[in-house]
Amino acid sequence: STARKPLIAGNWKMNLNHLEAIAHTQKLAFALNDKDLNRVEVAVLPPFTDLRSVQTLVDGDKLRLVYGAQDLSEHDGGAYTGEVSGAMLAKLGCTFVVIGHSERRQYHREDDDVVNAKVHAAYRHSLTPILCVGENLEVRRSGGQVAHSVAQLDGALRKVTAEQAASIVLAYEPVWAIGTGEVATPQDAQEVCGALRSRLAELYDADVAAAVRILYGGSVKADNIVGIMAQPDVDGALVGGASLDPVEFVKICRFGE
Ligand code: PEP
Repeated sequence: STARKPLIAGNWKMNLNHLEAIAHTQKLAFALNDKDLNRVEVAVLPPFTDLRSVQTLVDGDKLRLVYGAQDLSEHDGGAYTGEVSGAMLAKLGCTFVVIGHSERRQYHREDDDVVNAKVHAAYRHSLTPILCVGENLEVRRSGGQVAHSVAQLDGALRKVTAEQAASIVLAYEPVWAIGTGEVATPQDAQEVCGALRSRLAELYDADVAAAVRILYGGSVKADNIVGIMAQPDVDGALVGGASLDPVEFVKICRFGE
C-alpha cells in the first residue's frame, strides 16, 4: 500500500454547530504539522451547516486539511425540499462526500439503487465518494461478510467507469462495530478490504484496484489503529466517535509514530 497515501477521515455525524466546528478545526490545524500531513491525508466530514465555516477557515489560513459532506442528493437541483446537491457541495470546496453510510441505509432506507444514483451525482460534480459498505451482526454470524460487502460494492458501482472508479474511496464499516466500542480485528478488516480490492480488479483492472484507498471504520481509537493500518489492503480509517475529540483524533492521525 506504499503508493496509496493513507487517509484518516473524521465523520462528525450530527455533532458540532458551526462555531464549535471552527474551534475544533483550529485545534486540528494547530496540532497537525507538515510532517504529519506529508505522511497522512486528514479529512473532516462535518454536518452541512458547518461546511461554509470550515471552508472559510481552510481557505483563509491555507490549512492542509480537506473536508467533505456526509451525504448528498442524487438530484442536481429543483423541487427536493431539504436536500443538498453535489453542485452546492462542490461550490463549498468539498473534496469528499460520504455515500451509503450504514446510518443512512438503516434510518433513511437507502438501498443500492439510491447509493448508485448518489455515486453518479458525486462524479457529475467532481466530488470523491467515500462509499461505505459493511455487514450487520446477523450476516457476520453466518459468515456472509465478504459476499454482502462485495454485493454492496457491485450495486454502488453500476455504470461507473474505470476512470471514475480509480478515484473512489471505499470504507469497510461493519455495522456491529460502529459506535459500539467493538472494533473488528485487524484480520477481520483485512479479509473484507482485501476482497473489495480483488473485486475492483475483476470489475475493472489491476490498476484501478491498486489505486483505490480502502478505509476501515468502526470504533477506531488511538489504541487500536496501528494493527488495523498494518494490514496490506487497509489504507486508512473512517473515524466516528473518536473524531469528536481533537486530541484523540490527532493521535489516530499519527498512528505508529
Ligand atoms: C462511522 O460512523 O463512520 C464510524 C466509524 O463510527 P465510530 O468510529 O463511532 O464507530
